[in-house]
Amino acid sequence: MTALNSIESVRNAAVKAVAETTITDLHTHIFPPSHENLLLWDINELLTYHYLVAELFTMAPAEITYQAFWKMSKTQQADLVWENVFLKHGPLSEACRGVMTVISKLGLQDELAKRDLGAIRKWFAAQKVEDYVQKVFDIAGLDYAIMTNDPFVPLEATQWTEDKPGHPLMKTALRIDKLIVNWPHAVEIMRSYGYDVQVLDDSSYSEARRFLKHWAEKLKPEYMAASLPPDFEYPKDDAMGRAMQNIVLPVAEELNLPLAMMIGVRNRATVNPALGDAGDAVGVANVEAVQNLCRENPNIKFLVTMLSRVNQHELTVLGRKFRNLHLFGCWWYCNNPSIIDEMTRQRFELLGTAFTANHSDARVLDQLIYKWTHTRKIVGGVLADKYADQFIAGWRVTEDEIKRDARHILGGSFEAFMKK
Ligand SMILES: [Zn+2]
Repeated sequence: MTALNSIESVRNAAVKAVAETTITDLHTHIFPPSHENLLLWDINELLTYHYLVAELFTMAPAEITYQAFWKMSKTQQADLVWENVFLKHGPLSEACRGVMTVISKLGLQDELAKRDLGAIRKWFAAQKVEDYVQKVFDIAGLDYAIMTNDPFVPLEATQWTEDKPGHPLMKTALRIDKLIVNWPHAVEIMRSYGYDVQVLDDSSYSEARRFLKHWAEKLKPEYMAASLPPDFEYPKDDAMGRAMQNIVLPVAEELNLPLAMMIGVRNRATVNPALGDAGDAVGVANVEAVQNLCRENPNIKFLVTMLSRVNQHELTVLGRKFRNLHLFGCWWYCNNPSIIDEMTRQRFELLGTAFTANHSDARVLDQLIYKWTHTRKIVGGVLADKYADQFIAGWRVTEDEIKRDARHILGGSFEAFMKK
C-alpha cells in the first residue's frame, strides 16, 4: 500500500481507523445473561446509575432525602433523575450525554428529541436480553469484554459453583479486593467455604492462597484485579501490605496470572455513606507503590490505572521504566472527554503505542455503547494530531500502518503484553 501524501489524508485515515477498529474492553462489570439478575441493562438502569444518582442530589429539592430515594422503586428513581437532572436543568454532564448517546445509537433519536421517556421504556421492554447483548457489542464494536468476577460476593460465586454458562463475548477476571483491603470480611467469606483462615499469619496465608488458586482454576481468569485506596503502599507492614506480599503476589507468580491494580478510590464509608454506590470519591495515591511492586517482582505482570488526574503524569513516566507494567484506561472520574484527551496525548508522547487508551468500566450493559462512541471520537482526534505532527516532521505512513496503531492502543497492545 502506498503512503498517504497529505496531512489531510493522514488525519482522515487516523479518525477512520479509530472509528472502525475492533476494540477489546479490558475491564467491565457486565455479566452473562445466565447469571440471574446480575446483568444490569435498560433505560431505568441507565438513569439510576450511580453517576446520575450523585448528580440528582446536587440538583434535587431538599425534600427528596437519601432515605426516601433508596426506598423507591427503580422506575420511580429513574423518573426522579429524568425530571430533575434532564428536564429541569441543562443535562450537560458526561453521564447525561452518555444516556443520550445510548438512546440515539439504538435508533430512538425521535423519542429522545421528543423527550418521550414512556416510548423509550416501551422499546426496551420489547428487547430479549440474549439478542440485546449481541446488539450492544455490535454497536460498540467490541471483540470481547473482560468481566469482574468476585468470589467474595456470594451471589456471584454461586453462579460459578452451579456451573451456569458464561458468554462467548465475555472473559473472566478474578476480583480480590477484599483480601487486601478488608481482611476480616475476606476471612468470613473464606471460612464459609471451609478454608481455615484467621489472623494474618503463615497458616492463613497458605489457606488464602489455596482459595485463590481454587478460584483461578474455576474461572480461568485473564488476570486478578483489585481496586485500592489512595493510602495503599508497598512494601508496608500493614494488613494490605501483608496480604499483597504473602497471598496475592505468590499466586500471581506461581500461576503466571497478571495483577490489575486500580488505585485511588476514597471509600464511601469515609466520604458519604448515605449515597451508596455513588458515595466513593478520589484521592491522590502513591505511585511509588507501583514502582516498588514492578521492580521487586519482575516475573509478575502489572496492569495499572489510577483514579486521580494528579497521578497520571508520574504513572505514565513509570510506564517507560518497567517491561512488566502496562497502563490502561481513563478510569471513572478520569473517563471524561477533557481528561481522556489529555491522558491520551500524554501517553502517546511518553509511551508511543504501548498502552491501552481506555476501558469502559461499564456496569450497565448499554453503557458500552456510549463509552466507546465517545472514546473513539476523542482518541481518533488525538491520533490524527499525532500523525499530522509526524507528517510535518517528514514521516510518511500507509493507511494499514495507521489501522495497526489504532488497534494497538485499543486492545492489541494489551494482548501483546499478556502474551509476553
Ligand atoms: Zn471497575
